[in-house]
Amino acid sequence: MRRPLIAGNWKMHFTVPEGLEYALRLRHALEPFADREDIVVLPPSLMLWEIANVLRGCPLEVGAQNASWEDQGPFTGEIAPKMLAGWCHYLLIGHSERRQLFNETDEQLNRKVQAAFRNGLKVVLALGETLEEHELGRTQEVITRQLSAALYDIDVKRAADLTIAYEPVWAIGTGRAATPEYANETMGLIRRLLVGRFEQLGTDMRILYGGSVTPANARSLMDQPEIDGALVGGASLKQTDFTEIVRAAAEVDRPA
Ligand code: PEP
Repeated sequence: MRRPLIAGNWKMHFTVPEGLEYALRLRHALEPFADREDIVVLPPSLMLWEIANVLRGCPLEVGAQNASWEDQGPFTGEIAPKMLAGWCHYLLIGHSERRQLFNETDEQLNRKVQAAFRNGLKVVLALGETLEEHELGRTQEVITRQLSAALYDIDVKRAADLTIAYEPVWAIGTGRAATPEYANETMGLIRRLLVGRFEQLGTDMRILYGGSVTPANARSLMDQPEIDGALVGGASLKQTDFTEIVRAAAEVDRPA
């Protein structure tokens, strides 16, 4: 059985005091669900260490939204996965905002995946098609390319530390989530690619859906057999909304 994972991507929101206060509130609200699923918060890097301390000893985990592919050196403004090693659990790689606004290429993302694994981090690899690609019927081609490029030369033994987040770009922050059926179908394709790449281990890997997940649609998305959880943006910034999404994942009955 795949254990659900809900990750909240705070993006570039909250001051440090606000983020710390919010993390404390999440800790109290979400701890009761942590025996049924993995719950991760992805704060801005500036407050990551402090928030990891606030959450120490509780089952909520932290992740970084981005990091370099280098371990150290003259890279002004960057943080290295090596700096996250040992206390930060996850690294999000390939979010569409990084791909589109910061021009991150498939080749760079592959180097980031390698660097994350080299430093013992778990990876959430985000991928998905743009609206134009969707309308041109290129979803399958785009996803196949993004996945195989990001995982180039990655050891199959890393499968357990890798989660895929399928995020159709047209659904991110638009209020227009993919239908559960469409998401499930596309994630079925990702599952087949993972099995092709990682063989049996591919069946145990988690695939999350991301794109305008809300308390209203979370349950119907998570009822789908290929949807193992969610990467949540906007709704992760409100305690009540994020809690309801976490609750929805906890309530889904999954086959043993
Ligand atoms: C995201 O940024 O990964 C995301 C899914 O955002 P939202 O939930 O706001 O669509």
